[in-house]
Amino acid sequence: MTFRTPEQYLESLRDGRRVYSGGELIDDLTTHPRTRARAAKQADAFSAFHDERREIFVQEDPETGEEVDRFMVAPRNAEDLLARARAIDFGMRYGGPSFGSDAILSLRWVAPELAKHNPQYYENIETAFREARQNNHTMSIVMSDTKGDRSLHPSQQGDPDLYVRKVDENADGIVIRGMKAHITGAGFADQLIVLPTKRMRDDEPEYSIACMVPPNAPGVRMVERWDYDDVSRFDHPLAYEGIGGECFVWFDDVFVPHNRVFQNGENELAGPIAYALGLWQRYSAMCYKKPTLEILAGAAALAAEYLGIEKAGHIQDKLFEFAITASSIDAFIHAAAVSCEVRDGVAIPNETITNVGKYTFASKYHDLVKHLLDISGAIVSTAPMEADYRHEDLHGAFDKYLASGHGDDGQERLRLWNLIRDLGADAMGGHKAVLALHAEGSLSAQKMMTMRGYDFESAKQYVRELAGITPPLGKYAPVPPAL
Ligand SMILES: Cc1cc2nc3c(=O)[nH]c(=O)nc-3n(C[C@H](O)[C@H](O)[C@H](O)COP(=O)(O)OP(=O)(O)OC[C@H]3O[C@@H](n4cnc5c(N)ncnc54)[C@H](O)[C@@H]3O)c2cc1C
Repeated sequence: MTFRTPEQYLESLRDGRRVYSGGELIDDLTTHPRTRARAAKQADAFSAFHDERREIFVQEDPETGEEVDRFMVAPRNAEDLLARARAIDFGMRYGGPSFGSDAILSLRWVAPELAKHNPQYYENIETAFREARQNNHTMSIVMSDTKGDRSLHPSQQGDPDLYVRKVDENADGIVIRGMKAHITGAGFADQLIVLPTKRMRDDEPEYSIACMVPPNAPGVRMVERWDYDDVSRFDHPLAYEGIGGECFVWFDDVFVPHNRVFQNGENELAGPIAYALGLWQRYSAMCYKKPTLEILAGAAALAAEYLGIEKAGHIQDKLFEFAITASSIDAFIHAAAVSCEVRDGVAIPNETITNVGKYTFASKYHDLVKHLLDISGAIVSTAPMEADYRHEDLHGAFDKYLASGHGDDGQERLRLWNLIRDLGADAMGGHKAVLALHAEGSLSAQKMMTMRGYDFESAKQYVRELAGITPPLGKYAPVPPAL
């Protein structure tokens, strides 16, 4: 395979795709002030295949011996899962290719099941996978529907289009209609992998659709939220390259040829597809959230040091919360890999540990942000912006007055306060707070999977034995397996 260059990637974005942002159709994503920073960041991911980051992101395909994108190889054992985890972590810190490939890996995982219904699905998935890998394509996971009334199933909604559905079919393909929401990176992807958002009922075949759509297909329109045009890196050390990059993707009667369809009406396949993606995504989520926790912990520790309060008891208590959460996520990443299950040659991260890990992050995140803001003080929301800091009338004022008085420079501190504002008290902080709760599934999804994985029957039996309600199963009843 050939790894694309950043220039080739940027050129490929000029393919007629329709991305709207800030009230306009963006004529060229690579040059428009609203999108060019993100385009540059995405392009940098392709540099990673050519520069010193290459050893992290490129590996030999075990079947062909060819060098390929690591994220496009299904892990075969715990070591592969951990190498994948390291690559995700590294990419979050230093830039790297997208792991949106979770979608196609999930489809490959359930492909044997899909093939039982229609062998063509298996062929289509394999072809899509090989093409994407060969062409070094990035993918977006297009799953979440707008969903209308959550208490109703797709077929019961007041408007039948609130979940993406098939509205027509002929000998050449199908036509899909609807809107998917919150799709990360869709505006900059090479392919959109459309998947059912959840289990479907017997009367919902038209909602049971999985397929692949190019972002420039006629009828596809994407709307990306806009927060800032070009911004200063000084003011927004985290957000200057753009925040989130999620899109609403409108499929306004989009034709999809049959050879790009992976599921077409088999409602019983929707659950397994959604479930497979959920597991892969949550494992990746733990890996990419690890650097976020490190930023929170590092910022809190540095802020405490800058303010001279790092030894105070209540600050130490808060720093402990950062340490224990970050260490726990690290442990969950390892434990889920080491306790993986190998099915059809693919290593599947342990489901319960993965869900517990993702839940731990999502349920602790907001407390950590609160601790960080508490430690930092008001300045994280009131500190001057770069233009004022550098204004000639104010020259040197903030260097002097924001310093500790121990001979250091106020600018250093201002940079930290700006980072903390980005992290917890500004547009990016708000986005991250929602991301922590909902991305890769809301808390209730992880609760459901954790409850499913825990053996209450065994626990009850143990208590019955201890209480003398039932005799022991045996002198040494089997010790329950590890999670
Ligand atoms: C930053 C970000 C990036 C994302 N990226 C992607 C992406 O790339 N691709 C993608 O497909 N999706 C993406 N998502 C979407 C994400 O998967 C969803 O947000 C998530 O699945 C939750 O869905 P929702 O937002 O519709 O909230 P809901 O699921 O509607 O949850 C809202 C509340 O309703 C409750 N609720 C929901 N249903 C019921 C019910 N039947 N009964 C009782 N209570 C209920 C929930 O527990 C929750 O409290 C992203 C989200 C974020 C925030």
